[in-house]
Amino acid sequence: MEAHEHVSLAERVQAADTFPTPLETRVFVVANQKGGVGKTTTTVNVAAALASRGLQVLVVDLDPQGNASTALNIEHAEGTPGVYEAIVEGRDLDELVQACPDIPGLSVLPASIDLAGAEIELVSLVARETRLDKALQRHLAKMDAAGQRIDYVFIDCPPSLGLLTINAMVAGREVLIPIQCEYYALEGLGQLIRSIDLIRAHLNPQLAITTILLTMFDARTRLSAGVADDVRQHFSETVLKTAIPRSVRISEAPSYRQTVLTYDSGSSGALSYLEAAREITEDTTKGTHS
Ligand code: ADP
Ligand code: MG
Repeated sequence: MEAHEHVSLAERVQAADTFPTPLETRVFVVANQKGGVGKTTTTVNVAAALASRGLQVLVVDLDPQGNASTALNIEHAEGTPGVYEAIVEGRDLDELVQACPDIPGLSVLPASIDLAGAEIELVSLVARETRLDKALQRHLAKMDAAGQRIDYVFIDCPPSLGLLTINAMVAGREVLIPIQCEYYALEGLGQLIRSIDLIRAHLNPQLAITTILLTMFDARTRLSAGVADDVRQHFSETVLKTAIPRSVRISEAPSYRQTVLTYDSGSSGALSYLEAAREITEDTTKGTHS
């Protein structure tokens, strides 16, 4: 990012010290069956950005790797109760959710390696596709009734289109697809979109791809610019104006169990995620108000 762009981005982001509250809870599924495209990085940093601007945010870590739990400094060693207990055992989220120690307003339903078995165990369970939806809706209603409404939920999916991702797509209303600005970026997107269409037709008519975020954008390469152009042409206004730059700060943060927003709040990575989060709150088609 050029120095002058950095300044104007900082100014724009800092001008908004609170973000508008949505009329109802918005539930995002962060999905792309490719690994390493920035799903987890986007989940934790957009969630942290929204919480830092006064919103109540829940992250559901649906990847047995538990990378989102790690980045948010949440205990998730083997045996830690979390999303597995919610979807396989039907336990209440209130007993499983942990508050992020570093970011007020942000809570996490953690994933431990125990979740790795869930993909297979779910196959034989009744209503196997709707278990996360049921558990989440019960929790959201309870929080609402207690006057502690959750504004945003982000479900960080594993890199596959199996039953865990299907559970996420039944529980969510909006799909956020991070697309890495590299050569094979668009490969596999057709399969993802067909899966979303199938879920919409059979399990969740409200599901829509509302948000596409370009990640690991490198302004110095023609490749990044080319991919960004292609994606914008295909998906038009669904693509956020902000692209997330490739940034060492972003990739370092998780090893300190932090988001880039807490690790280096003035870095271009932090500012870009804040701006992307602000754009998400701006989506007037979702009935936002201030
Ligand atoms: P996914 O969840 O889709 O598998 P991750 O969010 O874990 O992808 O990102 C994959 C790797 O790329 C991680 O090591 C992460 O730290 C790194 N990474 C993600 N976004 C960026 C970025 N904008 N700049 C540099 N590294 C990034
Ligand atoms: Mg991930």
